[in-house]
Amino acid sequence: MTGEFRPQPDVSMLKLRRSLIVSLLVIGCAVLLVNGWIVYNSWQRMLNETQSDAHNLSQSVSRQAEDSFLPIELTLQDLRDRITLVGLDAERQTYLRNLLVERKASLPQLHGLFVYDAQGNWVITSGGPLQQHRSNSDRAYFRYHQQHNDSEMLISQVIHSRSTGDLVVPLSMRLNNRDGSFRGVLLATLRIDYFRQIFGYYDLGDRGLLALMTNSGNILYASPFPDSTINRNISGSPLFTSLLKKSNSGTAIYAAALDGVERVFGYASLKRYPLVVTVGYDKKQLIHAWLTELLVYVALCILLLAVIAVLGSLLLRNIGYSIRNQEELARTRDQLAAMNRTLQTLALVDSLTGLANRRQFDLYLDHCLERSQQWRTPLALLMVDVDSFKRFNDTYGHLAGDDCLRRIGGALQNVVHQSEDLVARYGGEEFAVILVGWEQESALRFAEAAKEAIATLAIPHENSENAAKVVTVSIGLHVTPGSEAENNRQKLIGQADKALYQAKSSGRNRVEIV
Ligand code: GH3
Ligand code: MG
Ligand code: MG
Repeated sequence: MTGEFRPQPDVSMLKLRRSLIVSLLVIGCAVLLVNGWIVYNSWQRMLNETQSDAHNLSQSVSRQAEDSFLPIELTLQDLRDRITLVGLDAERQTYLRNLLVERKASLPQLHGLFVYDAQGNWVITSGGPLQQHRSNSDRAYFRYHQQHNDSEMLISQVIHSRSTGDLVVPLSMRLNNRDGSFRGVLLATLRIDYFRQIFGYYDLGDRGLLALMTNSGNILYASPFPDSTINRNISGSPLFTSLLKKSNSGTAIYAAALDGVERVFGYASLKRYPLVVTVGYDKKQLIHAWLTELLVYVALCILLLAVIAVLGSLLLRNIGYSIRNQEELARTRDQLAAMNRTLQTLALVDSLTGLANRRQFDLYLDHCLERSQQWRTPLALLMVDVDSFKRFNDTYGHLAGDDCLRRIGGALQNVVHQSEDLVARYGGEEFAVILVGWEQESALRFAEAAKEAIATLAIPHENSENAAKVVTVSIGLHVTPGSEAENNRQKLIGQADKALYQAKSSGRNRVEIV
């Protein structure tokens, strides 16, 4: 019974489980997507802010640098004009030296002011004794002015001052005679320490970079790098190969030429001078700061996902329980139904003979009576009682008696040919036969045939009253025409019983009709 059973869980439960799994996956993906987007956005925002910072700072430092160079240029222009006016004769030199000393004092970024004659000899300086034996004609800026007759201020590579040994940026102008021929060079030297000091004010993190360079890629000063990087040419850097060609200022991310460290750069050219300032923030440090900032957020997201997963699995487990309960319920229901069918069979069948039992007989007789009245068709009832059966039992024993009852039942069943006719064990050694639609005459013939069929079994009964000494039956018959409205089971049985009683009292082994 259980082997054949195929429990089918409730379809709605399976659907619920499927939609819950899909919902959990969708929620999980949505949480991941939204948070991924937030995380990505926060990185972009941080990157943008850093780029903006780097750009602003590079512009601010470039203006500061410009403000450092401009007064020197103006000073050089003024001195050149005065020298052109008064000349460099010995009687003018004291005046000019005082002027140089005064100007140098007013510009803290200045290391010194110098005037050289056409041979590169020191003529006037802003400080210290003249070093007559020294010639500066070998300096690049000197040779440049010797060969180029222009009035612009030249910013040259950083050099070690011959007067003090300090690192300085030479800012120079050509001095002309009245006829335009080369008279010498006017030089201002700008202290690198000045930039070291200014750049030192800015905190750019551990590996931040701040550099002032010429447009050709020569480093004037790079913080926090050692002085060995000064004058290094990094014209291969993306700043010079592409960025500055597109715009005078901007931002970009690239590996610095100085140390290969990837940085977020801002850069700005000086408007008046061929110089550029770059500010770079270490990208790794930026990522580190970003991750630290995100740590709590990411932990909360993981917690949220874990809560969703736990709640989801609890729900799924509960649904699983429900499905199993339903399967169990269906299995039990099926078993009960099978048991019920068995019980129904047991309730309607006589276990000894396999014939319909009294209960089934009663139900069927009521049903046949109803139909008989409805259709006005006759209905015949036979009550069959085994003759002297008590003596049979006494003689052959109860087991033989049981077997005898089984054989009589079988014989009666064999006589019946219509499917709607019913043979039942009425009780003890009594049987009943319902014949549906049989007229009196044919029913009587049937009863006789049934009596004969049992006698023909020839079951020995030595204490029987009949001469053949076999088991016989007495039959009482009653046939109702079906038109009698007051017909009922009790009346029909009563009449058949009455006929049976007559058969018994008339000597047994016979059929009587009432
Ligand atoms: P009568 O000819 O007047 O019918 O006499 P009888 O002995 O057949 O009738 P009685 O009512 O005196 O006895 C019926 C007997 O049937 C008594 C009982 O032991 C027996 N009997 C009833 N049911 C069964 C059964 O299931 N198996 C067996 N072996 N005997 C049964
Ligand atoms: Mg009896
Ligand atoms: Mg009897």
